[in-house]
Amino acid sequence: MHVETFSVGPLGCNCSIVADLEAKRAIVVDPGGDYDKVRARLRALDVKVDAIVHSHTHIDHVGCTAELQRATGAPASIHGADRFLYKLLPVQAALTGTAVPDRADMDDALVDGVALRAGALELGVLHTPGHTPGSCSFVVTSGGRTLVFAGDTLFRGSIGRTDLWGGDPDAILRSIHAKLLPLPDDTLVVAGHGPSTTIGEERAGNPFLRRR
Ligand SMILES: [Zn+2]
Ligand SMILES: [Zn+2]
Repeated sequence: MHVETFSVGPLGCNCSIVADLEAKRAIVVDPGGDYDKVRARLRALDVKVDAIVHSHTHIDHVGCTAELQRATGAPASIHGADRFLYKLLPVQAALTGTAVPDRADMDDALVDGVALRAGALELGVLHTPGHTPGSCSFVVTSGGRTLVFAGDTLFRGSIGRTDLWGGDPDAILRSIHAKLLPLPDDTLVVAGHGPSTTIGEERAGNPFLRRR
């Protein structure tokens, strides 16, 4: 398994490419708003994209999905509970001072417990609502190590904001405690923004996760 993460767009969304380089297949997590950068990395890896998935439907995570989908023909997926946010893209664009992106053909294939495949890869979907109603985390295991793409649900030393449309401060804590913290301590957490961390580090030191 090959995983690479890089920052895309003015809000610094982390895009990840998860690839089976032998099979030359990949899944793109949160393409964000910089199609040229994503395309350049996909070309360098020489992989075909089997799925485009989104941790949630804020504009900084879905901005160039339409272009990527046109170029790859891959299905693009969100969780159904975020569908209203995709309809709100023009409002999100106005609030962030960015252009309204083209509309992708988004399906609702992200359902808790399903797995998406690319070559030998299996990317499991966890519904982790709170930052948005349809926020999801994606889990993949390779060589005995687990990796979770946590979107804007869990950051190093912090958690996602819950003051935007449909945000829920109780739900995000429930999601993290019930779905993410049970993962093994050495699970690498790739956050939606900023540096990566591990589940063990966050369980021990994240001030937002102390049980009251
Ligand atoms: Zn974000
Ligand atoms: Zn967000």
